[in-house]
Amino acid sequence: VSNEAKVQVKLIDFAKSPLEKLYAAFRTCYSSETPIEIWQKIEAEKISREKIREFIGERLKTGHASPLEQVVFWFAIANVSRSLSHQFVRHRIGISFEQQSQRYVKFKQDKLAFVMPESWERAGMREEFEGLLDKTSDLYARALKAGIPAEDARFVLPNAAPTNFHVMVNFAEMLHICDLRLCVRAQWEIRRMVALMRAEIKRVLPEIAVFLQPKCGENRMGYCDESLDEYLKCPISKVRPHKAAIFEMYEKYGSRKSKPLSETEFRVVEEVETLDSPAKKT
Ligand SMILES: Cc1cc2nc3c(=O)[nH]c(=O)nc-3n(C[C@H](O)[C@H](O)[C@H](O)COP(=O)(O)OP(=O)(O)OC[C@H]3O[C@@H](n4cnc5c(N)ncnc54)[C@H](O)[C@@H]3O)c2cc1C
Repeated sequence: VSNEAKVQVKLIDFAKSPLEKLYAAFRTCYSSETPIEIWQKIEAEKISREKIREFIGERLKTGHASPLEQVVFWFAIANVSRSLSHQFVRHRIGISFEQQSQRYVKFKQDKLAFVMPESWERAGMREEFEGLLDKTSDLYARALKAGIPAEDARFVLPNAAPTNFHVMVNFAEMLHICDLRLCVRAQWEIRRMVALMRAEIKRVLPEIAVFLQPKCGENRMGYCDESLDEYLKCPISKVRPHKAAIFEMYEKYGSRKSKPLSETEFRVVEEVETLDSPAKKT
């Protein structure tokens, strides 16, 4: 019997009233009203849900991203490989992880569970993969029996060993993770897991989920910034421009031309306030 582990992703919870929180956070920046007054209006339902959605949509088109840190999600994730977890925990801002320990958890089943890429199956090498894992299971079990502590016995465990996470992540970081990990340049397993995280958010908060896209998505950068070779290999490049094409269009049809920034441009940038100041004009 195969002990193949299948990924599971569940949105456990999210900080309540996320849309209202986003609205109030953005509004606080642009309003003479106090946040207390803004919340009084929200709670009295003086601002329609439609208006809240519209306002947030407009703000999300700008680079003003810090209010997004005030919306938080919690996920339970199971049966992802240790090769995925190495990649996942590289995200360090706006995300917090708890991961199943291979020191405290002894794997006691006859056969260790594993995550297997489909490419092994396609190559007709599934049996060899499983055969090696059987040997590893046996050696791991004998190591524990011989009194080797779990923290040392685990040294024989492969990247295919499954692991579990309890994760807290804010919306700003979730956007960034989707930018990188929904892109086909990301590895298939983490891409699949992040797609499932997006699907979970979409189930309960579709207004927010529309912004969770690979970085080339129309709600993100809108174009691909990977190399041209990688772009041409991408199945969604048919519906997304490459950065080179955008610059080409700009050079060809733009009323202004680009060139490397020189010290003259830096001087202009530095002096712009003086140039615009009323004192200078008079
Ligand atoms: C396709 C792909 C291939 C990869 N290949 C490799 C590889 O071969 N080897 C390897 O080691 N890693 C690799 N990585 C991992 C990558 O280098 C990052 O470690 C990972 O994507 C985490 O993202 P982040 O740095 O944006 O961190 P996050 O924590 O997700 O960053 C969030 C935001 O904060 C910013 N930020 C975070 N920390 C700082 C800081 N200290 N100072 C200033 N700004 C900060 C980030 O730039 C980002 O805007 C790869 C990632 C991808 C997507």
